[in-house]
Amino acid sequence: MDPYEKSCILKAGKIGKAALEFAQTLIEPGALLLDVAEKTETFIRQEGAQPSFPLNLSINHEAAHYTPFPNDKKTFKTGDLVKVDIGAQVDGFISDNAATVEVGGTGNYSNLIDSSREALEAALKVLRPNIPIGLIGRVIGDKINSMGFKPVKNLGGHGINRFDLHSRIFIPNYDDGNGATITPGTVIAIEPFASTGTGMIHNGPGGNIYIMSGTKQDKRDPVYGAFNMLPFAERWITSLIPDHSAYLRKMMGKKQISQFPVLKEHNGAMISQAEHTILVLADEIIVTTK
Ligand code: MN
Ligand code: MN
Repeated sequence: MDPYEKSCILKAGKIGKAALEFAQTLIEPGALLLDVAEKTETFIRQEGAQPSFPLNLSINHEAAHYTPFPNDKKTFKTGDLVKVDIGAQVDGFISDNAATVEVGGTGNYSNLIDSSREALEAALKVLRPNIPIGLIGRVIGDKINSMGFKPVKNLGGHGINRFDLHSRIFIPNYDDGNGATITPGTVIAIEPFASTGTGMIHNGPGGNIYIMSGTKQDKRDPVYGAFNMLPFAERWITSLIPDHSAYLRKMMGKKQISQFPVLKEHNGAMISQAEHTILVLADEIIVTTK
C-alpha cells in the first residue's frame, strides 16, 4: 500500500479513537448534546484532522444518525443509552468508530452494551484477508444471539474509500450468505448493533446530517469544497452559507443533497453499537481505531 495513504489512514484512526474517548468524558446528566458535538468536533480539528461526519449521539431506540440541530436544546438524562459515533478524516482518508454508554452510569443495559462490543471483538478475531463477508456476519450474529439479544439485520458495517464513508461493501450483523470476500488493501468498518426489540430498524424523521448526492458536483459550490462527498451537519454550514436553510431546501429539491433520516427501532426497544475501522492488508490486519 502507498505509504502516504497508509500514514493518513493510521493518523485518521488515531485521532478518531481519541475523539470517541473525549466525547464520552463529556456525556453526563444535563449536558447539552450540542455542546458535546461541538467540543468533540473542535477536538478533532485541533488534533490536525477533520471530522469524517458530524458526531452522532443516538439515544435509546435510536440506532444512528442523530446529530444536534443548530441551537439544539436536547440534554442527556440519567439512564439514557447513548450510541456515540465519530471519526476523523485526513486528506480524505477516514476512520469511523463508535461505543455505547449509559448516562450517569446506571448499568441497566450492561449486557446489551457488552453484546455488541463482544460481537465486534469476535469479528476482529476471525478477520483475515479474503474472508467471506457472510462469515463475519455469522460470527457477529451468533455472539449477539448467544447473549440473548437480536442483531440488527438492516444495519451493518461497510467498506471505506477516500472521501467515501460507505462504499458498496456491506458487512451484515448476521450471515446473509454473501460469499464475496474482503480484498487486501481494503479499509472496512465493522459495527455490530444489538437490540432488545425485533432487530429491524426503520427510518424516522429527517435528521440533521446531509451529504452531496448528485452525480455531477459543482466544484465551485462552497459546501462541496468544504466536505467533498462526506456527510456534514447544518451546524457546519451556518457561516459558509448565510441562508443555509434555503440552500439545503433548494439543493434537496434538485436532488443534489440528501438528508439522512434518524434510524430507529420501535418504541421501547433499546439498541447498542460498537464499531472499529480496520485496514485489511495481505500480511497484516490493522485496527486503526484501537
Ligand atoms: Mn460509525
Ligand atoms: Mn460506520
